[in-house]
Amino acid sequence: MDCIFCKIAAGEIPSTKIFEDDQVLAFYDAAPQAPVHFLVIPKKHIGSALEIDANNSNQVAHIFEVIASIARQLDLDNGYRVVTNVGDDGGQTVGHLHFHVLAKRKLAWPPG
Ligand code: AMP
Repeated sequence: MDCIFCKIAAGEIPSTKIFEDDQVLAFYDAAPQAPVHFLVIPKKHIGSALEIDANNSNQVAHIFEVIASIARQLDLDNGYRVVTNVGDDGGQTVGHLHFHVLAKRKLAWPPG
């Protein structure tokens, strides 16, 4: 499958890793939208949040544990935002489930 995030998870494309275990990888976004902007992905391919179901939701739960752990490690105690874009209207550009974590600036709400 020609998926850039599968290739990053497999180490075939380099990334600036923050955390990795057998299930997930966290790495810095190549086009940061905040002073801290990283992505957390399941290593196993899931197309988007629309494909989350009872068979893979344990990976999503684990991703949120990893995000909280990294947030403590990076001192994001002033807050952060977790975003997953889904499909065209959601602004998804990479078809592999990923959670953006943005921090260290005041983020607008609602998003544009
Ligand atoms: P989305 O538009 O929600 O699908 O987000 C995709 C994100 O992946 C964007 O923020 C891109 O900057 C980021 N991205 C794409 N390719 C890479 C890469 N090779 N390394 C790190 N981030 C990437």
